[in-house]
Amino acid sequence: MSLSQMARTIKESVTLKLNQTAAQMREKGEPVIHLGGGEPKSKTPIDAIVSCAAVLNSGDIKYTPPDGIPALKKAIVRYTEDYYGRSVRPENVVASCGAKQAIMAALIAILDPKDEVVFPAPYWVSYPEMVKLAGGVPVAVKAEDGGFRPTVREIADCIGSYTKAIILNSPNNPSGVMYEADFVGEIVELCEQKSLYLIMDDTYNRLVFDGRSPINCYDYSKEDIERSKLIVINCVSKMYAMTGFRIGWAVGSRELMTAMATIQGQQTSGPATPSQWAAAGALNGVQNSIEALRLTLQNNRDILYDRLEVFPGVRAVKPQGAFYCFPDFSGYEKNSQKLAEFLLNKVRVVTVPGSEFGMEGHLRVSFCGAAKEITEGLERIRWALDPTAPNELYLGDRRLVRDWM
Ligand code: PMP
Repeated sequence: MSLSQMARTIKESVTLKLNQTAAQMREKGEPVIHLGGGEPKSKTPIDAIVSCAAVLNSGDIKYTPPDGIPALKKAIVRYTEDYYGRSVRPENVVASCGAKQAIMAALIAILDPKDEVVFPAPYWVSYPEMVKLAGGVPVAVKAEDGGFRPTVREIADCIGSYTKAIILNSPNNPSGVMYEADFVGEIVELCEQKSLYLIMDDTYNRLVFDGRSPINCYDYSKEDIERSKLIVINCVSKMYAMTGFRIGWAVGSRELMTAMATIQGQQTSGPATPSQWAAAGALNGVQNSIEALRLTLQNNRDILYDRLEVFPGVRAVKPQGAFYCFPDFSGYEKNSQKLAEFLLNKVRVVTVPGSEFGMEGHLRVSFCGAAKEITEGLERIRWALDPTAPNELYLGDRRLVRDWM
């Protein structure tokens, strides 16, 4: 078979693959604990279901405009006013099939072959592959101090004549760190000075802990929206726990949004109609599910972090938002792929290797599941790695023997 060069170079989404592996193992009756996932357990908000059910009941489910139904775009305009304090028009909005398609359409709309897109490491697994799919070149910036926050200078040093855009994701998948307001402000300024696009991936923007306030990139932008190269990405996937509906959106200049709508019009047409109504229902409905989710996640974060803090040989940075922690396990195994496989094979715990996020030696551990899964998952990991951990472990009624130490 002859596949394109592109098809041969694009890597599979490891996180989606791990979901499949965990599901297959569970089907076979294996007591798998999935700490590799990226979706909250909570149910879809009732307002989303009611709105979606109404359109389904009508039986009249047809194509929509490629950039979304007016009702959804109106809800996004209001969301942008309420949470970003920025007045935009429906023409400044494109609704997409998840934040993923919004980012992808934006990249296709702005990149010429060989253009570079700069983003801090660790980064969300999909950024490098999405940039490549759009014909560009990904440039990951590592912090010199080995931490999760490259400085503005380190990012600026990676900007060259081919740089077209910067992507920032805060709170960050996989590290859970929130970039400082000053850092975001300086990056907005840098992009405006150098006329670069800034894609703010605000997928986890509202899910922040310990009394922190979400950071609003518009606070630092001096440009009028129509001249601005700021592209703000959001979705219902995480904040409303609606991953399966596949609705995300971009807000930006009318010119760019029109180009993105044209791209979507040729690629997929508008997002699925019932999903758009569900998203509009969630955005227009009662908002208390976001706060309930945020509190649950903060509690889960505490449970996970308390255990990692006392795990000998592991170094963890306390997540400030999202639902991931990115501890350094290199004291046990430097090859994160090997370590993740080992943990899955020996104790049936799914984690994601740090190498996928541009940082070897780490594992991404999610805390979006049940508290019990987090405690049990960590207990299993500790048992598998730490020689001082109690010698006995039961998986269900199976007694495990630790014969590798
Ligand atoms: N950006 C980041 C940082 C993410 O973690 C994810 C999902 N894991 C997305 C975008 C994509 O979101 P969606 O499911 O809405 O496509």
